[in-house]
Amino acid sequence: MGFEYEVGDIVKLKKPHPCGSPEWEILRVGADFRLKCVGCGHQVMLPRRQVEKSTKGLRKNTEKN
Ligand SMILES: [Zn+2]
Repeated sequence: MGFEYEVGDIVKLKKPHPCGSPEWEILRVGADFRLKCVGCGHQVMLPRRQVEKSTKGLRKNTEKN
């Protein structure tokens, strides 16, 4: 329980986007998250609670640092 979300991470949601991709890149964190679908580039805003509820996995962005 309790993922540490950071900009640039890839979050895997329980319900895939209609394009077929379950993975979203995190563009903004806060009370609302901005996510970009890895499959098609579609962007959405989701309340943090909803992201937490539907997170299946989180892949940290290892390119920074
Ligand atoms: Zn998509």
